[in-house]
Amino acid sequence: VTGRVWSFRDISPRVHAEQEREQLLRDANEAIQVRDDFLSIASHELKTPLTPLRLNLQMLKHALEADQAVTPGRVDKALGQVRRLSALVNDLLDASCVGAGRMELQRMPMSLPELVHEVFSDFRSVSETHVLTYDAPDEDVPVLGDRGRLAQVMTNLLENALKYSPLGGAVRVSLTHSGGDAVITVADSGIGIPKEEQAHLFERFFRARNAPVSGFGGLGLGLYICRDIVERHGGHIWVESELGHGSTFHVSLPALAVQPLHEAHV
Ligand code: ADP
Repeated sequence: VTGRVWSFRDISPRVHAEQEREQLLRDANEAIQVRDDFLSIASHELKTPLTPLRLNLQMLKHALEADQAVTPGRVDKALGQVRRLSALVNDLLDASCVGAGRMELQRMPMSLPELVHEVFSDFRSVSETHVLTYDAPDEDVPVLGDRGRLAQVMTNLLENALKYSPLGGAVRVSLTHSGGDAVITVADSGIGIPKEEQAHLFERFFRARNAPVSGFGGLGLGLYICRDIVERHGGHIWVESELGHGSTFHVSLPALAVQPLHEAHV
C-alpha cells in the first residue's frame, strides 16, 4: 500500500433541507387546522343568534300582517340578537386589524377614573344578575388614551367577569395609582382558569377548556384584542386566577403627571 484516498462529502445541507421541508409541512398542516377550527367556531357563534333572530322577525311579520299587537319585548329580543351579531363581527374585524398590525389609536389626555366609572355604571344599571362594586381613587388619574378603545377593554373584562361567574356572584372593579402607573382591576368569583392555560389566554382564538361551549360561547378574540390595545398604550394586561374560585384581571397604563393648577396657568 503506497497511499490511501479519503473521500468526504458534506451531507448536512441535504439533511437541513429535508428538516426544513418537514417543518414547513407541519406548519402548513397546523395553519390548516387553525383555519378549520376557526371556521367551525365562527360559523357556530354567528349562527347562534341568527336562528332566533329569524324566528323573532318572522313572528313580528305574522303579527303585523294579522293586525295583532306587537309587544316591545319581542322587538327588544331581536335587537339584543342583532347587537350580539354586530359585536361578533366587530371582534372579527378588530382581530384582523391586530393580526395585520393595523390597529390605530387616537390618543389624547383623558381622565381614567371618569372612563372606568362610566363603563362600570352602564353595566351596573343593566346587570340584575350580579353584585357589582367599584372602588374609585380619591384623585384624578389622567392618561394619554384612546377613550373608545380603553372603554372596549373595560367592557370586555366586565362582560367576561359576568359571563364566567354564577348568578349572584360578586364582581369588584378598582382603580389605583402608584409609581407612575394606573392599574385597573376586575375581579370575579367565577369558574376560574386552569393554571396551565393561563399563559395562552391572550392568544388568538384561545378558549380555556372549562369555558362553557353552549349558551355563553365566544370566539376567543376579546382578550387578544385587549392585549393589543393595552400594549399600544405602553401598558400591560395580566391575570391571576384559581380554578373554581375566580379570576382577577389587571390592566396597567402609564399615567400622566398631574400638573399643579398654578403651573397649568403659567
Ligand atoms: P371569549 O370570552 O369570547 O371566549 P376572550 O378572549 O374574552 O374570548 O376570553 C378567552 C378565554 O379566557 C375564554 O374563552 C375563557 O376560557 C377565559 N376567560 C376570560 N375571562 C375569564 C373569566 N373572567 N373567568 C374565567 N375564564 C375567563
